[in-house]
Amino acid sequence: MRKVVLATRNAHKVTELRHILADVCDELGLEIVGAGEFPDAPEVVEDGVTFEENARLKAVALAEATGLPALADDSGLAVDVLGGAPGIFSARWAGSHGNDRANLELLLDQLADVKDEHRGAAFVCSAVLALPEGTVRATEGRMPGRLAREPKGTNGFGYDPILVVEGDTRHSAELTPEEKNAISHRGRAFRAMVPHLRELLG
Ligand code: IMP
Repeated sequence: MRKVVLATRNAHKVTELRHILADVCDELGLEIVGAGEFPDAPEVVEDGVTFEENARLKAVALAEATGLPALADDSGLAVDVLGGAPGIFSARWAGSHGNDRANLELLLDQLADVKDEHRGAAFVCSAVLALPEGTVRATEGRMPGRLAREPKGTNGFGYDPILVVEGDTRHSAELTPEEKNAISHRGRAFRAMVPHLRELLG
């Protein structure tokens, strides 16, 4: 088995990606491992200004540090009427990093006067594969919907309670994990990576 390292120390994200890429990993004899296996790998400053730049910074640094093919992703919520914000600032929109409830409440307040027909938004994910010798491939996945006026649902995290899924009446936080994986921005970005994995690691 050849290892491919994912730029996260979160075991849940490693498990999720193993599910998403299970078929191609079997086919190519790949094993996805987390960055936690490489304690000396550097913490990367995510100072890019797009999802792709930040994913690229993480993947390239990890490939260089480990000598292995590396995958990374960066994601957030892009609201049409805000020109794509919160975007790369999604996790800290209300100030402190990772306060999901404060972030979504601030966003709902900011959009209080925006009519239903202008409340389009999407979760966006950029995925990047970097090889130690410098080759880089990037893909993007989107999960479109509309912003609700009240949070609903208890699954998921972040802005899941306020995104009404396109083609559905449910909020993203009302989907089961399986339903969300099938249509999520992360699932789509990493499934779009499969041809690149075949091309570069096959
Ligand atoms: P990360 O790239 O997974 O760290 O996500 C950055 C931020 O974007 C999170 O803290 C959330 O606020 C938001 N976000 C990304 N993906 C999702 C999602 O699937 N549901 C809800 N919020 C998300």
